[in-house]
Amino acid sequence: MEKIKMNVPLVEMDGDEMTRILWAMIKDELILPFVDLKTEYYDLGLEHRNETDDQVTVDSANATLRYGVAVKCATITPNAARMDEYKLKKMWKSPNGTIRAMLDGTVFRAPIIVKGIEPCVRNWEAPITLARHAYGDVYKNVEIDVPGPGKAELVFTAADGTKTVETIHEFDGPGIIQGMHNTAKSIESFARACLKYAVDTRQDVWFATKDTISKKYDHKFKDIFNEIFEKEYKDKFEELGITYFYTLIDDAVARVMKSKGGFIWACKNYDGDVMSDMVSSAFGSLAMMTSVLVSPSGVYEYEAAHGTVQRHYYKHLQGEETSTNSVATIFAWTGALRKRGELDDIKELMEFADKLEQATLKTIEGGEMTKDLALITSLKDVKVLNSRDFILAIRKNLEAM
Ligand code: NAP
Ligand code: MG
Repeated sequence: MEKIKMNVPLVEMDGDEMTRILWAMIKDELILPFVDLKTEYYDLGLEHRNETDDQVTVDSANATLRYGVAVKCATITPNAARMDEYKLKKMWKSPNGTIRAMLDGTVFRAPIIVKGIEPCVRNWEAPITLARHAYGDVYKNVEIDVPGPGKAELVFTAADGTKTVETIHEFDGPGIIQGMHNTAKSIESFARACLKYAVDTRQDVWFATKDTISKKYDHKFKDIFNEIFEKEYKDKFEELGITYFYTLIDDAVARVMKSKGGFIWACKNYDGDVMSDMVSSAFGSLAMMTSVLVSPSGVYEYEAAHGTVQRHYYKHLQGEETSTNSVATIFAWTGALRKRGELDDIKELMEFADKLEQATLKTIEGGEMTKDLALITSLKDVKVLNSRDFILAIRKNLEAM
């Protein structure tokens, strides 16, 4: 069989621990035999990040801006324990944080739906994609623990020195205050990323805030979304038969629970933090969640939503067998290959991505899966496979297709 040709390279960001092991297996068994793979390789494994003073992360993000599509393996975000374990020069920042800041992106997370792994919410038939605004609000807050009586004020000093003052509260005893912010630029990027992703994936967008209570702050989010939708996206949405829907956050939560799924739920930073854990656990497993970072300029970085699966890696190092789920990492590859095919007009590459996804789902639906899924499946008499054998089972189905 002749291998599928590529024109423009994918930016490949290798990573750490168990996912690094899966990464190599996926490439060797599921991609290289079928695709004449072109990648520009960046080793984001912690050792190499440390050697290069984290320059490799910056270089990989720049390459992504140049080529437009990246696929990333999970990486360690260093903490005190990792400083010792890897003898690090510095507690390097989270690679995802660095890349997100450089791409100015929004993260979209969607569950992979497969028969036999049923969502806890009975009426959810299609995936709910959660888009989380990843800048500001309570994540960049300033707080004061108020010790006793006094007056709290909100002060804005304009560049020309003009002051705007609002009284927050006159305290007659101890209390607490918090200040937070966002920027119009960041909210605009968020809105564009969500609306563009909706067009790309032909799904409705739901957005919600609490603008009845937060008449300036949350209202600004609502206005910016509305303005960008009306000016830049309305016609395109009409053409595709998709809708933009705004409501209050409490109403949105109630409607999500009653929905069939199949839409993008755009959330402010805190709502997205809380709701993404609810949505992902209700759909089944973190190991079945994909994640894509989309920049407003149309740059895409695909990855699995889970981490490096450290506990399994230590077992692997001890020579013990592991049963680590590679589905989300496989779907990161298929997402990236499909997008590359789309941008470069290579139909075979898009079809290959579809087939690899189908072969993966077929393997699970046929009762062959890793331990994490075997524990929650509704299928009977399933075969629990180790990390490698699961990938080999997918290869068999892929070859048959
Ligand atoms: P994790 O890698 O997501 O794993 C947590 C637990 O979830 C695992 O111990 C395992 O449970 C289960 N799990 C996750 N993915 C699985 C898979 N593919 N197959 C089977 N089980 C899976 O989180 P962590 O162990 O807390 O973090 C490890 C490292 O990942 C940290 O250094 C963190 O910084 C990094 N991290 C990176 C990213 C990223 O690059 N995007 C995201 C999150 C975390 P059992 O042990 O019960 O089997
Ligand atoms: Mg969280």
